[in-house]
Amino acid sequence: MKGETNTWHGQRVVVLGLGRSGLAAAEWLLAQGAEVTMFDESQSSVMQDLARTWQKRGGVVVTGVSQLPETRFTAAILSPGVDPRRPVLGQLQQAGVPILGELELGARACLCPIVAVTGTNGKSTTTELIAEIYQAAGKKSVACGNLGRPFCEVAPFTANLDRVVAEVSSFQLETIETFHPKIAVYLNLTPDHLDRYASMKEYGEAKLRLFLNQTSQDTAVVQRDLVLPGLKAAKITFTAGPSGADYTLQEGWLCAQGERVFPQEESPLRGPHNAENLLAALAVADADGISREAVKHVFRSYRPLPHRCEVVAVRNGVTWVNDSKATNLDSMERGVAGMTGPVILIAGGKDKGFDFSGSRKVLEGKVRAVLLLGEMAAKIEKAWGGFLPCRRVADLAEAVGRAAEMARPGETVLLSPGCSSYDMFKNFEERGEKYRQCVKALPKEETTK
Ligand code: ADP
Repeated sequence: MKGETNTWHGQRVVVLGLGRSGLAAAEWLLAQGAEVTMFDESQSSVMQDLARTWQKRGGVVVTGVSQLPETRFTAAILSPGVDPRRPVLGQLQQAGVPILGELELGARACLCPIVAVTGTNGKSTTTELIAEIYQAAGKKSVACGNLGRPFCEVAPFTANLDRVVAEVSSFQLETIETFHPKIAVYLNLTPDHLDRYASMKEYGEAKLRLFLNQTSQDTAVVQRDLVLPGLKAAKITFTAGPSGADYTLQEGWLCAQGERVFPQEESPLRGPHNAENLLAALAVADADGISREAVKHVFRSYRPLPHRCEVVAVRNGVTWVNDSKATNLDSMERGVAGMTGPVILIAGGKDKGFDFSGSRKVLEGKVRAVLLLGEMAAKIEKAWGGFLPCRRVADLAEAVGRAAEMARPGETVLLSPGCSSYDMFKNFEERGEKYRQCVKALPKEETTK
C-alpha cells in the first residue's frame, strides 16, 4: 500500500471535520484529482470563510448541518477531532461508505519508513526526542501526527525523508487499515478518554491497533508491563521501575541491556516518567542503528515542550510550575511525584470520568494544599477533602492569588489539573498561558525567568 499516490484520482471523497488535519487531507485529495466534499457541523465565521475559499478551489463545502445531503462517496476521511458517534458517521456507515482516518490516508501516501509513538502520556515528548535524534544523526526526519503537522501535510514530501516520526492517538488508530510502522513505540496505558470509551478494555484495544500490520521484520518498543496479545514484531522492553527489561533506569542511569549509557540528571527531562520517554527513544535509536553520540547530544540539548512540568517563575523561593498538559490522572500524579519539596496543587477542569480517590497515596505527604477549579472541583473535593485541605476557587487568577498567599520558600505551586481544559478554556495551551500570565502579574518580588 506504500506510496499509493494516485488511487484517489476521480474518486468522490468526503472529508469530515475542517480543522488542520481535515484541511491537510482535503489538500492532498484535491492534489490527487479527487472530487472532494468537505463537511463540518460548525457554522462559525471561520468556517464560512473557509467554505468560500475552498469552493473557489473546486471543493464542495457543507457546514452548519449534522448530516450530509447525499452519501454517494467512495470513502470518508475522518479528522481525529471528530467524534465517531456524530450522526453523520451513522449516516455514512448506513450507506456503506468506508471510513478511514486522516492518519491512514497520509500513511498510504508515505514513501519512507514510519516510526509511530502511542501511549496515554508522553507521546509528544518522545516523538520529538526520536525525530531530533534522527536529525542529529544526519537523517532527514520530521515529527508529525497529533503533534504539530498532520500526517497528510507531511506525506507529499516523504520521498525526500529517511523517517517520519508520527505521534498517534487511540482515536486515530481506530480508523487505520494499512498503517504499518517499521518501529512502533507504546509508552503506557492509564485511564483517559473514559468519556469516549465505554471501558479501559475498549481504550486499550484501540491502542493495540498500533501493531496491527507489523510483521516479524518490524520492531515494537514497549513498556515492560503492557499486555500485548498477538504481537508479531520483535519486542524490546523498557521500564523505569525495578529492573527486568531491555532498557532500564538504574541508580539514575539510563541503561541498555545493563550497560550504563546516560545519566538522566544531564537531561532537562526529570522524573521517572521522563526516564521512560528517554529509554524508549534510546531503544528506537539502537534498533535503527543510530549512533549513541547523536542520542546523547539530543538528551542533553532537548528543550522540553511548554506546559509539561515547565518552570514559569521562581519568586521568593517559591517555584511556579505549569503542567497544564496534565489532562488525565496519571500525568497529574507523575507531575506531583516529580516535584521536590512540598507542593500546593492547582487541579480540576472538565469531567472525563476519572475516580480521583485513588490518588491519595501519591498526594499524601507531598501536597500541602489543593486549590480546585472548574467542573470537577466539587467531585475532587469530595475525594480528597478527608485527607487534604481543599479550597474551591472561581478561576485561575484566584487560584494563583491564593497560592501566592499560602506558599512558603522551598515549596512549589503546581498547576497540574488532571482534567481537560474545555470547561473554562479553548485548550490546555490557553490554560497554561493564562497561568503564566497570572503568575507574572503577581506583585513584583525577585521574579526570575
Ligand atoms: P502526550 O502527547 O501523550 O499528551 P506529553 O509529552 O505532551 O504527552 O505529556 C503530557 C503530560 O504527561 C505532561 O503533564 C507530562 O508531564 C506527562 N508525561 C510525560 N511523559 C509521561 C509518561 N511517560 N508517563 C506519564 N506521564 C507523562
